[in-house]
Amino acid sequence: MLFRSSSSDFKKIIAHEANQCVSCGLCLPACPTYRLLKSEADSPRGRIALMQAVATEKIPMNTRFIEHMDRCLTCRACEAVCPNYVSYGRLIDQTRALLLEQPRSIKKPSQSKLKHLLQKTLLTRPDRLEKLHRLYYFAQTSGFWKWIHSFNRLKTNPLVKLLASLPVAQFPYTNETKALPFIAHTWKETYPVNKNKRGEVALFLGCVARLTDVATLNASIYVLNRLGYTVHVPQKQTCCGALYQHSGHIKEVSSLNKQNKTAFESHHVDAIITTASGCGTQLAEHGLFDENHSIADISQFLAASPGWEQIDIAPLSDKIIVHDPCTLRNVLQAQSYPYALMSRIPNAQVIALANNDQCCGAAGTYFLDQSDIANALLTHKLHDLVAHDAKYLVTSNIGCSMHITQGLWGENIPVEVLHPVTLLARQMGFC
Ligand code: SF4
Ligand code: SF4
Repeated sequence: MLFRSSSSDFKKIIAHEANQCVSCGLCLPACPTYRLLKSEADSPRGRIALMQAVATEKIPMNTRFIEHMDRCLTCRACEAVCPNYVSYGRLIDQTRALLLEQPRSIKKPSQSKLKHLLQKTLLTRPDRLEKLHRLYYFAQTSGFWKWIHSFNRLKTNPLVKLLASLPVAQFPYTNETKALPFIAHTWKETYPVNKNKRGEVALFLGCVARLTDVATLNASIYVLNRLGYTVHVPQKQTCCGALYQHSGHIKEVSSLNKQNKTAFESHHVDAIITTASGCGTQLAEHGLFDENHSIADISQFLAASPGWEQIDIAPLSDKIIVHDPCTLRNVLQAQSYPYALMSRIPNAQVIALANNDQCCGAAGTYFLDQSDIANALLTHKLHDLVAHDAKYLVTSNIGCSMHITQGLWGENIPVEVLHPVTLLARQMGFC
């Protein structure tokens, strides 16, 4: 883990890793930006060649170079198909870190001002995020976001559209009484199981998810409890750091890792459960956890858990379309587990979304920084989804879920987007 790397450190790592690429081009058909823009410089092979040339100072780092790097989604579809095991994710992260080291005269990677403000003031401060919960709930239920979205100048703003389209926020589960708005605004430290206990897990809340995806976190606690797992929710946990990682802010990632390690290490659990594959990937690849604290995606953990024969699950005679988030598919290689989980619902028709190997365009905050490409990819995704004529789309990453939801909302397409564990919990009687 690098804490104080210089430009020359980054260049050495980039030059070494880029050398592994044999320019075979097998990754090109997998790359969403290459498929869309038809430009070698927006392909993995082209980007790697550019990174290599900059790292070895054969070409200058100029705005054109930065544009091609900025357009990369970090979806890592290229890495998943590379026969030479080139670590493209590492390459692009190190390149972005190198860009941040450059003097002000060189254009920095594109970042919306809002994203920068969010990163600085909120994402590393879960206490602030949780205080916003009530305000966020009020803004949704009062129609404030929809009112803001009605202004012509704001109609196309991707963040305003996203906020206007999200389902009404929920509040943390109390597992005693139904959580009431304005009363329960944070999670309990422990959700115990007293009878037929099978084990103990810790739940990672995430940053955006603790505000916008409480439904999934609540459903996860419920299903884990029903299967016999006591769930710990360490209160001092923080953001996983993925947004920092992919924008080159490696120093900030180190400090978030330390805070999460401190929060989780006192809990001796079977696994640290993540409900967003983006967070799970970041923690698995860059977290500081030892071998006693393995990270598991909720679907993977539940699919492997015994005890299902004692659980009643109501049938659902509908098509359930499964979206594979890039992080779950290309990095964690855990994309089969949501299908296994959904197949536990009697009568359900579980179907893979067509072209699941292509990114939806959310890609962290890419949809804010590169909205044209993100919208083009989303349009393809919606087209594929509509062709299935389904009622539900399940996805295991909150970023994808929000991006696809706002696309469906904008086109008036009545498909419910939710996490697989949320749909499963609903069929188990949790509402
Ligand atoms: S990244 Fe891998 S698949 Fe792509 S050109 Fe290089 S060696 Fe070939
Ligand atoms: S990470 Fe995704 S967008 Fe970037 S080069 Fe690889 S396949 Fe293309």
